[in-house]
Amino acid sequence: MPGFELFGALEREETNKVLRTGVLMRYGFDGLRQGQWKAKEMEKALANRMGVKHAQLLSSGTAALTVALCAAEIGAGDEVIMPTFTFVASFEAILSVGAIPVLVDIDDSLTLDPKAVEAAISSKTKAIMPVHMCGSMANLRALSALCKEHNLFLIEDACQAIGGSYEGKPLGSYGDMGCFSFDYVKTITCGEGGALITNNSKFQKHADHYSDHGHDHVGNDRGKEEHPFLGYNFRISELNAAVGLAQIRRLDDFLAIQKANYTIIRNELEKVSNITFRAVPEGGIENYSFLSFFLENREEAKRVQTELTDAGVDGCFYWFDNNWHYYKKWEHLLEAKSLGKLPKEVIHGIGKQKSNNFAASDNWMGRNISVLIKLGWSSEEVSKRAQTIAEVVSKHTRTTP
Ligand SMILES: *Cc1c(COP(=O)(O)O)cnc(C)c1O
Repeated sequence: MPGFELFGALEREETNKVLRTGVLMRYGFDGLRQGQWKAKEMEKALANRMGVKHAQLLSSGTAALTVALCAAEIGAGDEVIMPTFTFVASFEAILSVGAIPVLVDIDDSLTLDPKAVEAAISSKTKAIMPVHMCGSMANLRALSALCKEHNLFLIEDACQAIGGSYEGKPLGSYGDMGCFSFDYVKTITCGEGGALITNNSKFQKHADHYSDHGHDHVGNDRGKEEHPFLGYNFRISELNAAVGLAQIRRLDDFLAIQKANYTIIRNELEKVSNITFRAVPEGGIENYSFLSFFLENREEAKRVQTELTDAGVDGCFYWFDNNWHYYKKWEHLLEAKSLGKLPKEVIHGIGKQKSNNFAASDNWMGRNISVLIKLGWSSEEVSKRAQTIAEVVSKHTRTTP
């Protein structure tokens, strides 16, 4: 997945163009910037690649999620449905706008189970935020139907799946809004950065103003711009955008490498009996940033993960025990350990999450191992890795009755 592995001449060249002008801010300074508008250029390239009308570059993927919720006018006391398996950013973004995160089970796609989502919809629900974890997508057709039926927004977190698609549409472009992260370990990186994409011009306008203190960006004197509504600062810097501009141009090359490496490991693992692969919804194409599979039970998965690490295979994740990606280890969120006081409504809403039973999620996550697909491996390295993984896994699965 990580674009940082292939940071090189193109990234340096775009960054140097910005350094030569010294204009490190994306807005204003028209006279000094010698025609360099890296954030704008990257937005154009991203919108183009994703087949959408608008892209708004932001300071992070978390900022993208936050801005998306605000753009949809979600706020105090509203409920937003999110999966038990994601990055803590989903929970944080929802909390940061005063809304209540409602945790919902995942299924064998490792993403939101539409049936569980349906059961969680209440009169307060405003949006469903599926997270396309580890390179593959949620069942967007089913979730979109629920959104239509209940008048909800569909906000896709495609931070880990840029370049994948569903029913011919790039991930992130299927719902009302889609969010990407360009942090240092994502498929393409800005160092730090993120983006929101949409076809809805109202959401775009909201995101554009909200991420820059409410500036309406009319005219060419920043100080005189109007502020139709309040906002905060979620701007990206020109230097970060310059790195991302180089990387978005390389996205399809990165995806091809990911797919080739994934395929070598997958072909080797297909020969192993008693494992199943993560389900990809019909009509979906992964971005191949991870290869995820299920063992027969939790103990076996744990053992295999330990042995893979012992055998020198790095980047094999057992998410079930992970501090950042699975609800079980989120006591700081579920017990609302905030520095300052949170609104009573929010504390009450979070409290309700703790008593929920996520046995279905525990079943899938407890048996899952995800292998990170890197870009920098040589073909010998991938083949060797594929063989080692298959050997370790088959040793265990053969012993199960
Ligand atoms: C990385 C990530 C984010 C947050 O992105 P940052 O740029 O690190 O803030 C959100 N959701 C998922 C699924 C992620 O993997």
